[in-house]
Amino acid sequence: MTAALLLAKKGRQVTLVEKLPHIGGFLNRFKRGGLRFDTGFHFTGGFGGILSDFLELLDFQDDVKPSPIKTEVFIANQDKRIFLPPTGLPDLAESISAHFPQDAAAIRKYYAAEQEIVNATPMFDLKHFNQADIMSMLTEYDALTVQEYLDSLSLKSPELKAILPIMALCHGTPPVESDFPYHCRCSYNLDSHLTAVQHGGDAFMTAFKREFAQYGVDIRTATTVQSLEFSSSSPTCTAAILSDETRLEVDDIFFAINPQSFLPLLPDNYLPARIKRRVRNLKPTCSFFTVCGCLDNGLHMENTLTFFLCDSNINQMLLPNATSYSTGIVTSNDPQNGCTTFTAFRTMFLEDCIAQCGSFDGSYRHEQKYLEFKEKMTESILDDIAHAFPALRGHLRVMDSSSPLTSQRFSPPIGSAYGTRQTIGVSRLSGRLPVTNCHALGHHAHFPGILGCMLGAYLAINN
Ligand SMILES: Cc1cc2nc3c(=O)[nH]c(=O)nc-3n(C[C@H](O)[C@H](O)[C@H](O)COP(=O)(O)OP(=O)(O)OC[C@H]3O[C@@H](n4cnc5c(N)ncnc54)[C@H](O)[C@@H]3O)c2cc1C
Repeated sequence: MTAALLLAKKGRQVTLVEKLPHIGGFLNRFKRGGLRFDTGFHFTGGFGGILSDFLELLDFQDDVKPSPIKTEVFIANQDKRIFLPPTGLPDLAESISAHFPQDAAAIRKYYAAEQEIVNATPMFDLKHFNQADIMSMLTEYDALTVQEYLDSLSLKSPELKAILPIMALCHGTPPVESDFPYHCRCSYNLDSHLTAVQHGGDAFMTAFKREFAQYGVDIRTATTVQSLEFSSSSPTCTAAILSDETRLEVDDIFFAINPQSFLPLLPDNYLPARIKRRVRNLKPTCSFFTVCGCLDNGLHMENTLTFFLCDSNINQMLLPNATSYSTGIVTSNDPQNGCTTFTAFRTMFLEDCIAQCGSFDGSYRHEQKYLEFKEKMTESILDDIAHAFPALRGHLRVMDSSSPLTSQRFSPPIGSAYGTRQTIGVSRLSGRLPVTNCHALGHHAHFPGILGCMLGAYLAINN
């Protein structure tokens, strides 16, 4: 959507093609019992910095406003709670050091390295960035995984290996796989100043829809690209045939979907073996099992994000077949309805969901074994919430739940929450493709999250 708007603002004629009946993907909110809940997007970093630059660029600054949220990590097997202040890396380092004084020097060193990496990342400065600057993004940390860097710190408290890289839970590549600079670039804005947004994804959607109307973006929903036509003389796409049989002549195509979904549209003879191998080897990030609801009447809680960790094995939480998990618990005051809503999302891969509830030949939604699986998971997640907030036990009214099978419908083929994993030494498919006027975008291609997708779109369009 960012790419569509940036192109339209440059005077290009843009068509946005969406498979579902409505645009927005994981930005959409949904309604249960008159209350609004977020599907994917719940919080972001970057207000006062790069996000604000984007809001200005897109003319969203009057639509998207921050809403403060208290952020903490809760390590359940130790009943340990650590507050993450939204006031910058130095304060974050001091807040964590207060719990682990024997590791204070290592904690400060970790965040100093994160700051150093971001300082060497010119693309975070939209106003002064140009393509040539990308080369200076290389740092001395480039060949290190997050895990290797953490190991080099000789931490005395093992739980710090989960707390310091906690924002890996917001990009999905585990510390054993992720290179340290990528992790820092994804984490920096969240580590520095994490906030919710007033009206959540609705704020972005209202702004996108208004600007799309103003700049004449043609939106085609409930359709997809069925096939592509190519020039006979060059590897260039000339037209897209939609599943509703419309034919669109094209100058450029930007795919903001999983490469495994769009690669089959490109002619085999234009695809080098290395590209096919890369796409075959892409690994998804986790999906989530999500429960949403509200607190009993009269019970209120401040806006809070709790990273509930069942233990401190963060790598296990972000890989399939896991023995550990994390549940993100977001509480949010809904002043209009005078109540506090909650959304809790537990890390889970589609394959692990299927291993527990079985696979289904058609619709699974009313199948007994699926309903039993959902009930069991919901109870377990409510237990997590009550463990972190004992006063809420028995006061949580569940309104709905969804599994990785639900996410699969929104984000085919695996339902991953953050696209494909950014594994060290394995490059993803981003930017210009071997068919020269086709490009890869979105969280599978660049950075995940709303801010990451905006940045990826900006890079692709300006390239
Ligand atoms: C539970 C959860 C919590 C999250 N929390 C946050 C958060 O707090 N903050 C944050 O920044 N990020 C969060 N994320 C991640 C964030 O939502 C994603 O990284 C981001 O939405 C990805 O944007 P995208 O445009 O690449 O993909 P999507 O949002 O998945 O949009 C892709 C769109 O393409 C459509 N589509 C798919 N296939 C086709 C096709 N073949 N043809 C046409 N259309 C197609 C889909 O229907 C969808 O509308 C969360 C994700 C989840 C699941």
